[in-house]
Amino acid sequence: MDCPYCGYRDSKVIDSRDVNKGIRRRRQCLSCGARFTTYERLQPASLYVIKKDGRREEFNRNKLLTGIRKACEKRPLPTGIVDKLADDIEAEFYHMGKAEIPSAVIGDMVMERLKNLDYIAYIRFASVYREFADITALKQAVDTLVTSQAGTPHSTSQLPLLPNEELEALAKSHRRSRKWTRLINQKTSN
Ligand SMILES: [Zn+2]
Repeated sequence: MDCPYCGYRDSKVIDSRDVNKGIRRRRQCLSCGARFTTYERLQPASLYVIKKDGRREEFNRNKLLTGIRKACEKRPLPTGIVDKLADDIEAEFYHMGKAEIPSAVIGDMVMERLKNLDYIAYIRFASVYREFADITALKQAVDTLVTSQAGTPHSTSQLPLLPNEELEALAKSHRRSRKWTRLINQKTSN
């Protein structure tokens, strides 16, 4: 590591400690005597995401975070849950030991977790990620939730199921189809 002040190649380590799964080293330049800090972290092997159109892109944790964060926006979820979710998913990738993962698999992993966490976040994420090409697809997703909710009447861990305003907002942001909105309203009114 070159000295950031004079560019000299050699430095000595004057202190070293473990931090956040890495090592922090305090160094001193052997030429100018300046002190600086370096961090050493294990770099996992590169992971590539295979996109729908077949292109490959290096896995980007921030992108994953942004997607999840957007879905969870203004939902009454515990602090840090979004980061934890991304951590879990990332850890699972590396656990799989594969160099490439289809984006669909990542999306499913996120949806699976959001579904157990918050239905609104789940539907939001699904509506962006799945792009809900047609009304049937979105209705199906909502139906699945309603059915699974009905199957577990004693579950108290979930937040309220899809209030009308949320569905209306979703409906508006997608297609302004009257039929679509009617389908959803029917679903939530019973
Ligand atoms: Zn120096």
